[in-house]
Amino acid sequence: MNALSVKTPVYLDYNATTPVDPRVLERMLPYFSDIFGNAASDHEHGHEAHQTVEEARSQIASILGARPDEIIFTSGATESNNLAIFGVAQRYQTKGQHIITSMIEHPAVLDVYKRLEALGWEATYLPVDSYGLVDPDDLRKSIRPDTILVSIMTANNEIGTIQNIREIGKITREHGVFFHTDAAQAFGSIDLHVEELNIDLLSISGHKIYGPKGIGALYVRRSRPAVLLQPVIYGGGHERGLRSGTINVPAVVGLAEAGKLAKDEREQWLEHFVTLRQKFLELLMASVDGIEINGHPEQRLAHNINFYIEGVEARSLLVRLKDVSFSTGSACTSAKVEPSHVIKALGFQEERAHGSIRISFGRQTTEADIKYAATRLANEINYLRRLVY
Ligand SMILES: *Cc1c(COP(=O)(O)O)cnc(C)c1O
Repeated sequence: MNALSVKTPVYLDYNATTPVDPRVLERMLPYFSDIFGNAASDHEHGHEAHQTVEEARSQIASILGARPDEIIFTSGATESNNLAIFGVAQRYQTKGQHIITSMIEHPAVLDVYKRLEALGWEATYLPVDSYGLVDPDDLRKSIRPDTILVSIMTANNEIGTIQNIREIGKITREHGVFFHTDAAQAFGSIDLHVEELNIDLLSISGHKIYGPKGIGALYVRRSRPAVLLQPVIYGGGHERGLRSGTINVPAVVGLAEAGKLAKDEREQWLEHFVTLRQKFLELLMASVDGIEINGHPEQRLAHNINFYIEGVEARSLLVRLKDVSFSTGSACTSAKVEPSHVIKALGFQEERAHGSIRISFGRQTTEADIKYAATRLANEINYLRRLVY
């Protein structure tokens, strides 16, 4: 504890992961040892587990405006992205081998694209503007007769920018190209209706929405048009043969409950986040100058702030601020610090990528937390700047 009586370290990295909501945990508990059957077994224990899984599937489908048989359970958004992209690419390779994505995707999309390029596919990486938005006209121009897939994330995990998904869906549908969106960050925070938005494949993750880690789902459209996938994981033929492996029943229950809570309480939390975001920026800007916001000012996630701190290395700040958990967006490979590919793609100097940090808050974040973090950040920024100048 400290002067402001907040519990430290203050967690401000909800874009990286969220704690399991106690109500979600409560719902999951019976499925570990009381109702423990294998959902694929043909006896009473199995039927009970199967019934539970199908209820969870319906719940998630209804949130997305989808049919229950269009939801495939996976181990998370990474696997969902792999299944969607490898699955379409391999299934439709005789139709064409050109695939499109954006430069600011999560590595779980970008690295799949790179792998497909190594295997002979041709990929286009669309640029973004200084707010992180893909220009729909760029997308339209990049579609060719041999294009089979467009994968563009709904909301970005580093800068919070929300893409013009509706327009992208319109364009892909007009051109008869499948549209996959990584909605790991957006699901739960914004309304996503796959029918209205012309989405063909959509990835979600449990641990980004106060559900458990190691569970996710992929929405796969089954009509107008049906999307066929080549599986990535083979075995017992679970999930209509698209994802073999015994279903993690408690995690599936947790994912569905987390999705339901996020939908039911969206407005309430949105208000909380807007207040915290405003407060944090006010406090920080009052004691530090040379701060520039990354990402879109309005078309964005409310619980994310990414900003550039002039003249300060984000890494130095992270090392000094042990009592606040936030992210620099950089990937630390063994040899060197690789600055964020997202910030680099916004078109600024390399320095902006090295000097940007992300803070993201959640349901548990209080105004005292925000005040503590803003004060600590301001102190350390001013200290580091004095060292340099
Ligand atoms: C967290 C995240 C992922 C990875 O999800 P996992 O469930 O951890 O595999 C993919 N994409 C985005 C945008 C994310 O934020």
